Amino acid sequence: MSGRITSHVEAAGVKVIEHSEVAALRTGAAGEVSQVVTATGDVIPADVVVLGLGIEPATELGANAGLAIGTSGGYLPDPRGRLGDGIWGAGDCCEAIHRLTGEYAFMPLGTHANKQGRVVGENLSGGNVTFGGVLGTTITRFEAGDEYVEIARTGLSTAETDRAGRRAVSLVTEGTTASGYMPEATPIATKVLAEPDTRLLLGMQIVGGNNAAKRIDAAAAGLWGAMSIDDLASMDLSYAPPFATAWEAVQIAARRLAERM
Ligand SMILES: Cc1cc2nc3c(=O)[nH]c(=O)nc-3n(C[C@H](O)[C@H](O)[C@H](O)COP(=O)(O)OP(=O)(O)OC[C@H]3O[C@@H](n4cnc5c(N)ncnc54)[C@H](O)[C@@H]3O)c2cc1C
Repeated sequence: MSGRITSHVEAAGVKVIEHSEVAALRTGAAGEVSQVVTATGDVIPADVVVLGLGIEPATELGANAGLAIGTSGGYLPDPRGRLGDGIWGAGDCCEAIHRLTGEYAFMPLGTHANKQGRVVGENLSGGNVTFGGVLGTTITRFEAGDEYVEIARTGLSTAETDRAGRRAVSLVTEGTTASGYMPEATPIATKVLAEPDTRLLLGMQIVGGNNAAKRIDAAAAGLWGAMSIDDLASMDLSYAPPFATAWEAVQIAARRLAERM
């Protein structure tokens, strides 16, 4: 799936260098950045360097006060958002329970921060509500010139099932976002993962054109409800030619994997 994204990025004129570490940034006479040096000794001329390194929770304050800190450095709220006696947490400073592994995971997203903030707010004002956990559902797009690709994922990837010690089978299908004869139809590639013994849905990834990515929500709803691959393949999803194929792309992937299993 990442190869599909890379080909769009490269088609937009970007040179992609993978598995390469940045060893140094060199500056010119006036102190301006001029070169990026990789660990393998390649030297890349640069006018601007943008570092996209992810984020880390700044939890020193709580750690020094004795609050528990997770493996990603975030606070570990209980389901009601409580960190300790009279201390509550929500958002990017916190880890959250992943519904598929049952373990804390660090997924700093606005969708979680909003829900967690509401849970904490309700509990602080006398309520008793809990945060349901996370699935890692994310969505984005790459757009440059004529190149346009939507990207989405939910649940566990192949690497994550390996790390979690879960057996998984997967396949990728190619389809279209609308019936093939409709002018708005764009390509959509769907990867689906399931557990062979239980037939539980484990994850999905989507790479495609306009209106491809938001289809991930059908799989996210299925994961939230611990749905089997067979149920995802047969559930009642909408269809009309401008919007989908008669077998929705998500369901074609699920059906083919179910058949193979
Ligand atoms: C460029 C970008 C795009 C994003 N796009 C998406 C997206 O499409 N979808 C999605 O789900 N998520 C997205 N996110 C992530 C999302 O924005 C965050 O997960 C979310 O804002 C976290 O909310 P928060 O309240 O925990 O933290 P924040 O929104 O960071 O709020 C923390 C606040 O605390 C303040 N603060 C920090 N230290 C102190 C201090 N010592 N005293 C007082 N105040 C302090 C900060 O100034 C800030 O206002 C994006 C993030 C970025 C940066």
